[in-house]
Amino acid sequence: MQFSELVSYFQKLEKISSRLKLREILLDLYSKLTYDELQIVSYFLQGRLAPPYVDLEFNISEKTIDRYILEAFSTSSLLSSDPEKQYKNLKLSHRDSAGAYEVLKKSFIKANDRTISFEDLSITRVYSELLELTLIEGVGSVKRRLKLLDGLLAKLSPAAGKYIIRLILGRLRLGVSVRTILDMLAYHYSLVSKDAVGNAKKHFDRAYGITSDIGYVGALYFKEGFQAVQKVRFIPGVPIALQLAEREPTLEACLKRIPYPYVDPKLDGLRGQIHIFDRTHLGKDYFEGRVWAKAYLSKINKKEQSLLSNHGNDEEYVVKIFSRNLEDLTPMFPEIHDWAKIYADKIFETIQPSDLKAVVFDSELIGYNESLGEFYPFQVTMTRRRKYSVSKLAQQIPIRAFVFDVMFYKKEVLTYPFRKRRELLEEIFSKVKADTAITLQVIYKFDKREDTHKVLKTVENLFYDYVSRGVEGIMIKDPNAPYEPGVRKFNWIKFKRAMKSELADTLDLVVLGYYYGKGRLASFGIGGLLVGVYDKDKDEYLTVSKVGTGFADADWLKIKGLLDDLKVDKPVFNVRVSKELIPDVWVYPQLVIEVEADEITKSPIHTAGLALRFPRFKRIREDKTSTQATTLKELKELMAS
Ligand code: ATP
Repeated sequence: MQFSELVSYFQKLEKISSRLKLREILLDLYSKLTYDELQIVSYFLQGRLAPPYVDLEFNISEKTIDRYILEAFSTSSLLSSDPEKQYKNLKLSHRDSAGAYEVLKKSFIKANDRTISFEDLSITRVYSELLELTLIEGVGSVKRRLKLLDGLLAKLSPAAGKYIIRLILGRLRLGVSVRTILDMLAYHYSLVSKDAVGNAKKHFDRAYGITSDIGYVGALYFKEGFQAVQKVRFIPGVPIALQLAEREPTLEACLKRIPYPYVDPKLDGLRGQIHIFDRTHLGKDYFEGRVWAKAYLSKINKKEQSLLSNHGNDEEYVVKIFSRNLEDLTPMFPEIHDWAKIYADKIFETIQPSDLKAVVFDSELIGYNESLGEFYPFQVTMTRRRKYSVSKLAQQIPIRAFVFDVMFYKKEVLTYPFRKRRELLEEIFSKVKADTAITLQVIYKFDKREDTHKVLKTVENLFYDYVSRGVEGIMIKDPNAPYEPGVRKFNWIKFKRAMKSELADTLDLVVLGYYYGKGRLASFGIGGLLVGVYDKDKDEYLTVSKVGTGFADADWLKIKGLLDDLKVDKPVFNVRVSKELIPDVWVYPQLVIEVEADEITKSPIHTAGLALRFPRFKRIREDKTSTQATTLKELKELMAS
């Protein structure tokens, strides 16, 4: 397909206001694409070039783009009196730098009174130029990037250029989430097979949960069929969706669900999925059929801030660390690499011919003061989530990974009951020194012979003991449950420290817009947020509260900056807000904040049908995306509890 045709689809997608229409357009689009194009378009629709775990970034800032546009159109009549100011106004009236670019380019074409014919580039050609852009590094890279970009834009129409600039700035927001694409695939399969959509959905969800690659799942389905989707396997080095926890308001309720649980502490750090595997396994399976593979390999081979290992790629074992969002955090935690260098050989000492030298742990990464044996608070741990000054920071705030589960050890172990996975963990950690950068999480195991009252008393004591030591709470786990990627159910129940008058848990809510605010806050230009939950069944955002308290001045400034980057002219089609609550500024549903509240009450105004009493801002959840926010179902369950 030509890129210009894709642009016309983007334009249609931007205008739609109903889900049915959206599905219709997507199906029509997907039916025209080749295998490679299916992948590319799926990534474009997510505003990216590859799945989240593949770190291919443009490294071009908005400032650079602004400077480039100002220079490129310096002779434009639209910028003739006070270019900087006029450009700023164009940005305001046409949403962003990309909007301003489109107008300036159109006017340029008109003024030059000629019909410029654009080379009609194919999608794959545009994609490969964009990939090339991500590979430019080193001395003079800004200049070289702009040169390449300039060459690409020159060949494209004003509208196409606008979308390219949005993509580069991480702002190509077309309202098509991974969920939307998975639903569309399941719908398509149910049409052709006459099978129930729900059945198909389960299989597509599993395939996505295990590959984390929407482009690959879609392309595989259309090229090789549904059976190929059912067969996708877990590959070390590729993150899987993490298992999630349910909640219950009382320990009695937890134990009613799991009478003889395994109980471990719930630390307040950063989720970390750790993969350690022999370099020779990074082969065919990992890259086969992936459109981004060539660029990625070339980046790896460059060795510059290697994606595979912080220490270059000449080591026997590859280490990869992924966040809750499946982003690659690998270069941020050198202590984990050092651990692997020392212990990987020991872990894989006894290997059968059918085994792989690979292990995948689920863990909580948390700043840990070794001399005091104390955890650092969440905010301190979060300072380690950055790519610069890594080694200095690692000395100041060493992190430790507390491993609480294993998904792969020599082979996939997702279907093993937790009891057996825990035994595996104990076997692995019996081979390595205790109290090192990767440490086995302690656990308390109950068994069927115990008296139920005694179980409750012991769990209570464990809870109070952990809380008094500054831990967030406990996790109550079903020893018979498998590991289910991306699923939130009662395999795990979280029970957190909470005040009596408050809800049993905080909520992670998506910001849908903001209000300017009055009085002192007016000077910040923001004084309240409109927030909502995610309705997973309908893929919609529904409002549940306005939040205006709990913010320090610095929070307002930071949030205003983040939200202004997400500004949109009108609400995205799947955001439901009633007239009474229309915010001063709409934003694309992306930023998630954690909110504490006293109670959930019924509400005629909020589209969730429920509202929060005394909501208070706690923190920004940088580790969550909008579809990982609290769901409508969870909100209802919390209210009932
Ligand atoms: P929360 O905001 O309560 O941390 P969440 O929405 O991020 O919740 P949940 O699945 O609801 O995620 O709760 C489990 C989270 O608790 C995990 O994401 C993980 O980061 C953290 N955690 C800490 N200790 C453990 C543990 N021992 N077992 C499982 N998860 C743990």
